[in-house]
Amino acid sequence: MFNKPRSGLRDAGTDGQRIRITDLNAGYPGRPVLHQLTFDITALTMSALVGPNGSGKSTVLGVLARVIDPTSGQLHYAAGRPPAFVPQRGAVGDALPLTARQTVEMGRWGQRGLLRRLNRHDRALVDSAMQRLDITDLATRQLGELSGGQRQRVLIAQGLAQNSDLLLLDEPTTGLDPEARERITVLLRDLVSDGTTVIQATHDLQAARSADSCLLLSQGRLVAQGPPDQVLTPTALSRIWQPA
Ligand code: ADP
Ligand code: MG
Repeated sequence: MFNKPRSGLRDAGTDGQRIRITDLNAGYPGRPVLHQLTFDITALTMSALVGPNGSGKSTVLGVLARVIDPTSGQLHYAAGRPPAFVPQRGAVGDALPLTARQTVEMGRWGQRGLLRRLNRHDRALVDSAMQRLDITDLATRQLGELSGGQRQRVLIAQGLAQNSDLLLLDEPTTGLDPEARERITVLLRDLVSDGTTVIQATHDLQAARSADSCLLLSQGRLVAQGPPDQVLTPTALSRIWQPA
């Protein structure tokens, strides 16, 4: 799905921007959600999309993953691989009768096709993603038997198996205990150091504070962007997290 050429996509240039979004509007049929978003994602950084439930974080990721078409505006990508998308845990059907390894292997389907057997290259990518997430020992376990933190690592391994330099994750630390959250945050930082551009949607402020750049969303609008200490201020947070 990610390999389809789309109009309006151009090379974002060589000034270090991996993605450039200009005046973007997007949503669902009859339901505008994102309004006039303009922002850049710098290559080889971690960005956090921060905001309360319903603010539009998942919709932004859907647009960046090219699963949701914008209604207007521009989306420019620097040359690179199609993004890998790690959906929110729970959106994936934890009850599916799949083992951890089968789940990670699904990361190769986009390039291999559903009906073709995985080749040696695919299997090597799956092995290395599983090693990286320390889930090799869980290979034959059913997804439903795993802890939340283990299942999240399986999903991130599925994203890594896609072998992209651009990794999008929806709430990767939400609902996990502090130790599992910290482990994932450290891992995502390591991926950035190793050459991946990481964008995560989160309402975990600790995870957001580990990002290089935060994009604060409220009701589908970008209300602040910049380094965490400038964006995640008590005033800004209390303003957008106030009950409606
Ligand atoms: P967040 O991820 O920040 O919680 P979302 O992007 O999921 O926010 O949702 C933003 C808004 O879009 C919400 O009002 C939500 O109800 C609406 N929305 C999300 N998905 C759909 C959908 N598939 N169809 C219609 N509306 C949707
Ligand atoms: Mg969401």
